Amino acid sequence: SEVYLNGKWLKPDEAYVSVFDRAFMFGDGVYEVTPFYKGKAFKLKEHLKRLQYSLDQIQVTFDAFSLENLMYEALDRLNLNETDAAVYIQVSRGAAARSHFIPEKIETSILLYAFPVALEGFENKTWEVMATEDKRWHRCDIKSTALLANVMANEEAIAAGFAENLLVRKGYFTEGSHSSLFFVKYGVLHTHPEGPEILSGVTRAEVINICADLNIKVVEKAVHIDELVEVDEIFVTGTTTQIIPISSITHKNKKVYTARKDSITRKLQKVFIERTRK
Ligand code: PLP
Repeated sequence: SEVYLNGKWLKPDEAYVSVFDRAFMFGDGVYEVTPFYKGKAFKLKEHLKRLQYSLDQIQVTFDAFSLENLMYEALDRLNLNETDAAVYIQVSRGAAARSHFIPEKIETSILLYAFPVALEGFENKTWEVMATEDKRWHRCDIKSTALLANVMANEEAIAAGFAENLLVRKGYFTEGSHSSLFFVKYGVLHTHPEGPEILSGVTRAEVINICADLNIKVVEKAVHIDELVEVDEIFVTGTTTQIIPISSITHKNKKVYTARKDSITRKLQKVFIERTRK
């Protein structure tokens, strides 16, 4: 039994939630995905801290850090200690008769399981992507299970043969449908500042740390789509994506960017591999 649901370990086909679960009915839940490199967590505290932040923001009283042991148990139950894996955690506000109003007595529902994931070889990929308008809400800092806008943006890209959709709000790039976004302009890294318009990516934060150690300057400033002519390198980051260079961007059926260089992206990938695999 490998799926943890509200205090029990169940087989996947035995793990059910109520049809009145608010994560199901309203997307009233938050989640987290934590990577384990051959059984070793990368940035576990940061992931749990972000889960705690999301819980606090939606006013669900629950201690995210209480899940740490269950995460390792989830890996053990599937024998995923020698291979690359991730742990999915979802916290729902709970089940109650359908109403926007949240009843006082409602029990938080916890789902947690591990799954194998390919984390090796990302440095051999490059992504051709598209860009569209960011149609998400204004609390993208909450890692909400309500991902319809992200799913639609991603699907639009996949259906058109692209690997990811880069989202643009009022002319400025925010992030990818499931990734953070970096630009190299005159040797300086640019990324959207933290706030309600992006998810505070754990990998994004680590890339910023690596840059500090390599003396690469980073500015947390959004890049406008018209600035792409001055951009040499673009890459996306994420827990399972890790660091992947963007080879081109298509916007409204026109190629608006083609990569000119990759040297900074490659340097960051190299250090990232050292840190995740140490
Ligand atoms: N932005 C969005 C919208 C995401 O869904 C994700 C998740 O992968 C990221 C950014 C990257 O965040 P992290 O590096 O913490 O996985």
